Amino acid sequence: MCPRHLLTRMKTSVAIYPGSFDPVTNGHLDLIARGEKMFDRLIVAVLKNMEKEPLFSVPERVEMLREVTKEFHSVEVDVFQGLLVDYARKRDAAVILRGIRAVSDYEYELQMALMNRKLEPRLETVFMLPGETYSYLSAKLVREIAQLGGPLTGLVPPLVEQKIRAKLAVASS
Ligand code: ADP
Repeated sequence: MCPRHLLTRMKTSVAIYPGSFDPVTNGHLDLIARGEKMFDRLIVAVLKNMEKEPLFSVPERVEMLREVTKEFHSVEVDVFQGLLVDYARKRDAAVILRGIRAVSDYEYELQMALMNRKLEPRLETVFMLPGETYSYLSAKLVREIAQLGGPLTGLVPPLVEQKIRAKLAVASS
């Protein structure tokens, strides 16, 4: 017998792809391209997290995301704060999209997905795998390579590379 909550559908095929996106990488874009094919609407939601020390401000991250996703007409970029399940309810989303790069992502993602399910049983988390080329790529690694003067070609879109270089040049002047 099907659990009762599985019989009540949330309305549309709207998915939320939440994250820090500090900055957006080609790994994120790979996932956005896959998600865009699967859902009617994909909301890329930048978490406004006061505790972290970011490289880019939230408006800067949003601006870069909007620019690099502009050819995807069903993708929207937004900002959220607080509980993801509250934001998902507000946006009428039925799905949370998350990426799994390696086994190391799995434990944290599992914990988050199960907790979100406890908070909102109608919300499903869907995991997607990026292309192998991006399975080692994280925004944190991109920030570290950039700070150490390494090449970013192929890791982030050209626009993002320019913005990182400009930001680091200002920081070091
Ligand atoms: P990061 O972990 O790179 O700092 P985020 O916190 O912005 O990035 O991650 C948001 C979501 O995107 C998470 O589900 C994360 O697993 C996924 N993600 C990040 N980088 C990649 C990648 N290279 N391939 C697939 N998924 C990724």
